[in-house]
Amino acid sequence: MKYSIFSKSIIFFSLITALVSCKQTIKSEADSHEDYPEDGRPSVTELIKEMDANTDHKLSKSEVHGPLADDFSKIDTNDDGFLSQEELENAPKPERGKSRKVDNSNNVQTDFEVTVNVNPSLFIKERMLQEIKQEERTLADGTVALCYIITTASQPHEHKMGPWCPTHINDSKDKGGIWFKDDKVYDVDGHFIANLKDFYSDEEWALFREDGSIKVTETQDECEAAARPDVDEKYHNYCVQCLPDYYKEKVSTYVIPVKPMYLESPNSLGGNGIGIAFNGVNFDAAAPTHAILAAHTLAPLDDAGGHVNPHSGYHYHAVTGATKEVAQTDEHAPMLGYALDGFGIYAHKDSNGKAITDLDDCNGHYDTIRGYHYHAGDAGSNKILGCLHGISGSLTVEN
Ligand SMILES: [Zn+2]
Ligand SMILES: [Zn+2]
Repeated sequence: MKYSIFSKSIIFFSLITALVSCKQTIKSEADSHEDYPEDGRPSVTELIKEMDANTDHKLSKSEVHGPLADDFSKIDTNDDGFLSQEELENAPKPERGKSRKVDNSNNVQTDFEVTVNVNPSLFIKERMLQEIKQEERTLADGTVALCYIITTASQPHEHKMGPWCPTHINDSKDKGGIWFKDDKVYDVDGHFIANLKDFYSDEEWALFREDGSIKVTETQDECEAAARPDVDEKYHNYCVQCLPDYYKEKVSTYVIPVKPMYLESPNSLGGNGIGIAFNGVNFDAAAPTHAILAAHTLAPLDDAGGHVNPHSGYHYHAVTGATKEVAQTDEHAPMLGYALDGFGIYAHKDSNGKAITDLDDCNGHYDTIRGYHYHAGDAGSNKILGCLHGISGSLTVEN
């Protein structure tokens, strides 16, 4: 009982005075609602009732504990040695000048010593549909932030797109793209398609006809029927490819905070992009291999790690070193682009060919040159990033 009174008094007190110190981590307004729900908050009357051992309807110094005791003389404005209801109600209000609106998911923002702003000059100019501009935007979680607005056709500059599906089981690897399983990358050549039964230990695979030709989606309608999550029965056991030409009118607009804001708890990746390469192509979340394989289809990536879907056009699920890289002055891995939260994305391996080993679940870590940043997962991992550790901007794709 004593413990519960004590803890309630602390809760109450932290509401009326700014005793919660905010040095590195800053709690948000929304956050504090989470901690002190309207209903569970003791009123001054309740507080007095609970702490008032001698029931004289006021609190003496011997009846209070913790912060109320520490600041007793400040609250006791008439210096009578008791805290009255009126004095408690008039106690100084909390100063929340440092707090920033973060989001309503009880997330705490952390300021690192080094935070690197997005550098718009790294993007390949020829691939931007408009000049990159700065605008204040309200992000999905309600945060208002200065953002870069980047408009692209999500088409690469440095490499060609495709091929994806070979057309005959005798085709060599230059006729097809790549596929992945258990962190390994495989060339999708004719032999690979012919051997899918063994590869997946599943007798139902049959992507080729008796004459050795491979069943490949040939038109926009076919690709759209085969690429949806509930694959049209007709296209079970097909190699699915949508061509960039079908969707070349699409416009991708990225909104990315100029200064990334790191959150203690990462956000899971949405369905709509996780970042942008310097060529304006979308780094996407994991390919939905479960749905793809359940229908005995393949949706190969090209050698650059990209393929096309009806929703977002050309996008990457793997980083294979085909896009613009920005070398670092130290041995650190080169930079590849930005995540939607504004933190940089770097290659999987450093300049000595070593993979980075101290990454968090999002594939991120911190250093004093780049601040917090990500390293793309290995090409076979189907995981360019695991999650976003900053407040996310957005990607919208319009026709
Ligand atoms: Zn995809
Ligand atoms: Zn690093």
